[in-house]
Amino acid sequence: MKFQILGTAAAEGWPALFCACETCRRARASGGKDLRSRASLMVNDTIKVDLNADTYHHLVTHGLDFSHIEHILFTHSHNDHFSPGELEYLRDPFAHKRTRPVVDVWCSRDVADLIREAYPDTERLGISVHEVIPFRTVELGDVPATPIVAYHRAEELCLNWIFGNLDRAVLYASDTGPYREPTWEFLAGVKFDLVISECTGGFLPDMETHLTVNTVRRMREQLDRMGSLNPDCRFVLTHFSHNMGMLHDEFQEKVREDGFLVAYDGIVLETQE
Ligand SMILES: [Zn+2]
Ligand SMILES: [Zn+2]
Ligand SMILES: [Zn+2]
Repeated sequence: MKFQILGTAAAEGWPALFCACETCRRARASGGKDLRSRASLMVNDTIKVDLNADTYHHLVTHGLDFSHIEHILFTHSHNDHFSPGELEYLRDPFAHKRTRPVVDVWCSRDVADLIREAYPDTERLGISVHEVIPFRTVELGDVPATPIVAYHRAEELCLNWIFGNLDRAVLYASDTGPYREPTWEFLAGVKFDLVISECTGGFLPDMETHLTVNTVRRMREQLDRMGSLNPDCRFVLTHFSHNMGMLHDEFQEKVREDGFLVAYDGIVLETQE
């Protein structure tokens, strides 16, 4: 499988939309890997995780062709992950000759309700909305995808996603704070080749509904203790707030000993299955 992280910032972007802080100023001057857009993940060429206001930027910046998208998965309804207005452009006359006339949308009931609120006639859009059940795998063509319960918002079921067979799996953990039960119970039966984890806070103090270097370390230790990490399982960090204060290279240097790879917009990660 091929994973391309199209956006690696937290909600405000980096440089943040209206911010003049030192970190954002340095990111503007530096450019390249220090320009981070809102969270987005592409799996192979047909599966898109989250759709936000930076979707058009992702398309043109990374030279992509979203007409091949067959499945759109949502994690939760924060607007750096869910901009339902973008779904409008799936339909005629905005889109022609898409690979599949109907795109399958996979999400929680909370997000499904918001989509139906925005578009009472989802068929007109050319989407079919499926409410997923946590921990129950769905088949996206030849890619199994399993939603798990994140710990992120009290008022909404937030999902993280596992891709691939559960013995060679890939975790996309964005957004979440440290997992609770029953998520840990489920993860005990999974073996990961790759974990792409949010690390919104970097080296800031621990947060309840996001992760930091410290809590990602603890997550890795717990997965390891449970036997859920295959040998050579890679850990890739993403979804950074500018408030964490370190540019890409500085942060990568600080987490090198941990073996963490710091993502940047457009990074491609491949797994064997
Ligand atoms: Zn987010
Ligand atoms: Zn800033
Ligand atoms: Zn969020």
